[in-house]
This record gives sequence, C-alpha cells and structure tokens, in this order.
Amino acid sequence: MTLFTDRLQHTFFDQFREQGDMHFSPVMPSRLDDPVIVSSNQQLAEQLGIDPAELNQPEMLELMSGNFPVTNIKPIALVYSGHQFGVWAGQLGDGRAMTLGELPVGNDATLWDIQLKGAGPTPYSRFADGRAVLRSSIREYLCSEAMHGLGVATTRALCLIDSKTQVYREEVEPGATVCRVAQSHIRFGSFEHFHYRNQPEAVKALADYVIERHFPESVNDENRYLKMFENTVLKTAKMIAQWQSVGFAHGVMNTDNMSILGDTLDYGPFGFLDNYNPDFICNHSDTNGRYSFKNQPSVGLWNLNALATSLTTLLSNKELIGALKQYEPELLSQFRHIMAGKIGLEEYQPEDESLINQLLELMQTNNVDYTIFFRSLCEFSNNNQTVRDQFLDREGFDSWAEKYLQRLAQQHSTDAQRHGKMLASNPKYILRNYMAQAAIELAYQGDYSEVQLLLEVLQSPFDEHPQAEKYAGLPPDWAEAISVSCSS
Ligand code: AMP
Ligand code: MG
Repeated sequence: MTLFTDRLQHTFFDQFREQGDMHFSPVMPSRLDDPVIVSSNQQLAEQLGIDPAELNQPEMLELMSGNFPVTNIKPIALVYSGHQFGVWAGQLGDGRAMTLGELPVGNDATLWDIQLKGAGPTPYSRFADGRAVLRSSIREYLCSEAMHGLGVATTRALCLIDSKTQVYREEVEPGATVCRVAQSHIRFGSFEHFHYRNQPEAVKALADYVIERHFPESVNDENRYLKMFENTVLKTAKMIAQWQSVGFAHGVMNTDNMSILGDTLDYGPFGFLDNYNPDFICNHSDTNGRYSFKNQPSVGLWNLNALATSLTTLLSNKELIGALKQYEPELLSQFRHIMAGKIGLEEYQPEDESLINQLLELMQTNNVDYTIFFRSLCEFSNNNQTVRDQFLDREGFDSWAEKYLQRLAQQHSTDAQRHGKMLASNPKYILRNYMAQAAIELAYQGDYSEVQLLLEVLQSPFDEHPQAEKYAGLPPDWAEAISVSCSS
C-alpha cells in the first residue's frame, strides 16, 4: 500500500536548502520501543484525503513512532527563538518536533504540515531528550481536536502512539508521539529569531515564504508584508476572543507558541474554566499569573508587539502601529458577537455589554460553572429553576433574568428557535483536566478506550453523547488536586 507520505512535498526544505542550517536542520527521528497505536483520528484523515484504513497499517505505526525506513521523506526541525514569560529567551527551535513534509489537500492542493512530536532529539533540543510523555501527548491530542470541535482555529492531531520507551521527568513515564497537522508551524518567534540576529534578509525570506504559501493572491501586492501582519493581528484577536468565550486558558503564551496564522499552537499546561474565574491560572509553573485567563487578551497584544518589532525592517512604524490598533476592536467585536450568540441574542447591541458583564460578574461571585451554566441557559424560559439554582444569590440572578427576558422580548424569534441556535453555541462537553486524567490513567494500564471515547465526544461537543453523560456534569472533588505544569 502506498502511504500518504508518498504525496508529501518539501517546499520549506526546498526553499531554504541553499541557506544551509540558517532556517532549519535536517534530522532523523529516533524510534520508540514497542510502539502501539493509541488512537487515530479518522475524521481528520478523511479531511486530509487519507484513506482512514491506511492509519492502521503496520508501516504507518513504524513511521509515526519514528522508525524510519529509507523513504522520500526529508524530516526537518525548524529554528526559532522567542520571548518566554516576557523575557527574551534566545534560540529555541523544534527541540522535539520534526516536520516530515507538507501534504497537498483538496482541489486547490492546500498544503498541510505533517509533524511528528516526541520523536527524539534535534539540534535544538539543548539539554533535553526530544521526547514527549504519554500524559502530555494524550492532552495535546485530545485538546487540539476538542478546540477544533468548538470551532476555534487550531493545529490538529492525526494519531497518537504509546511505547515502552522510558522517559525521565519527575518520574519515569512512557514515551509517546503525536502526529501534529497544521497549515503552518511558523511562529512569531521564527521572525524574532532572525530579527535579533540582525538578519533582515532572512526575515524577508521567511515572510516571502509565508505569503507565497498562505496568501498567494498577494505575492505581487506592494503591501503584501502589511497584509500578512494585519492577518496575524486579526486572526490572533479572533482566536483569543474564542478562547475567552469557551473558557480556555493556554497556559504558556510565549511568542514561540504563537502561530503566524493565528492558530492555537503547542498544547501544554492548558486548562478550561470550571467555575467562572477570570483570575484562573492553569499552569502551575506560572507563579505570577502572567498567563492567567483574564490576561490572555493583553498578552496577545504584547506578543503581537514583539512580532511587530521583528518586522521593522519590512514595515514602517506607522504601518505596524496602524495594524496593531486593529487588535483590540477586532477582539472585542468578535467576543461580543460570540457572547451575544451564547445568550441567544440574534445580534449584539451596545446595551448588551452591560447585560453580558453583569452575568459574568454574577457567575464569578456565585462560583457558577461556566460551561454547565451556558448549556443550561439554552433551556431557559421564564422561571427556570435549573438555571436559577446555580446561583446562591437568587435575587441577584432574578434581577439579571428580568433584564434578560426583556431583552429577549425585543427579538422576534420563538423560544424553540432560540434554543436550537443556543445549543449550537454552547458546548455540552469541554476537555476538563480530570477527563484527560481519567483517560491517561487508563492508558497507563494499556486501556486506550477512554482516549477514543473522549476524541469522539469532543469532536462534536455541541451534540448529545449519552455514553459520555458522566462528563457533562461538574468535575469530581479529586479534580482539584490535579496540577499541570510546563513539564511534558
Ligand atoms: P514548550 O514549552 O513545549 O513550548 O517548549 C519550549 C521549547 O523547549 C521548545 O523549543 C521545545 O522544542 C523545547 N522542548 C520542550 N521539551 C523538550 C524536550 N523534551 N526535548 C527537547 N526539547 C524540548
Ligand atoms: Mg512550544
């Protein structure tokens, strides 16, 4: 059987081959011991035009676990730098990820990077082992698909492999690989890398590559660099508005984890809100709360500023500032639009801001579960106990509900129409830490069924899944003891 990898192109490799190791390093994966497939993503396979049966072929297991036969594949690790927790960190790079090539998909042959994460050291591994543990690989695999299911721009994951390779973290853990799929793995930090090395020609070459591959219609446009940057600004604003609306905290919003296309990238110590708490810090290592839930919008702008600085050889300050100024209005407009939809409003009106803010404040002071509340609100009509009972301050809720009902009365939709739309805007399932943890613990015993179940549920989180009803309620008490950090 010919593998989909036979269709891979190597445009990045070909474009930058001449510049030696300035942009990337050719690498070879190191194999995992006794690999087994934990899960393969049939839905994504189909979207990529890969025969889903192919994913279960022995050759595919070999390939995805880093056991490379001699093939036409030219794996590369990309170099990048970045600001980590607000501090310039210098060179980083793909320390444990290798791009195998780009897969042309669909009639217009859009290229998707196929990447292997956890397949051993690269020249950018510094003192680390190039491995990824099963625990964090399950989290990345499930969360990228959960975010896609929620409609948030994100990298995807094609398959997940477990193994007997021992990886040393705080304790010994099984090594794993995830096949990550994305339209781009170029990060803000990729541009910063060359800017801070005083290599403006390399900044330009990278921008030219991004434009040629992702915005071919702009190749001859004299404003092409500005268009590229504006696109990053607007897509990042939209992505972060979506994060805020689904209650997602990324945890490590360093500039090396920000995609030039505005996709959610590099899932580590992320977390979804349980109770609505703007001060939520999901990353145990983030002691100062730089990347707390409420800080994400401003960090997004901080990161875009860092990207702007690295584009100063291509764009004037006036152009850069003009583009950056679009960030806040775009984020606010996207957020308001999404939140209005979540509470069943046909369109956002300026007065709705206080309605939404009052609700969020009430939810915060009453420790109301973010996801469960909005899902229950879909069934709301006058005097609904299930919704009201989530608030200790019943009077506070009643006075909000009164304004809400008045606002709904201004619309001409029926309750049934509103309910239907709201169900498609308020997920029943999100990936809470304890759910990933339950799947991880079973996987340690060789039982991968929960990973598969969660994958299917999270890929369509707005639908009912009777077999996963246990995951639609409040998290259990033991969930509070789970701590996630940068160690992965
Ligand atoms: P992250 O916090 O996962 O975004 O990683 C930050 C940097 O550390 C990136 O350059 C990674 O490639 C690198 N890195 C993280 N873990 C490892 C590892 N186990 N081996 C090699 N490099 C790693
Ligand atoms: Mg990273």
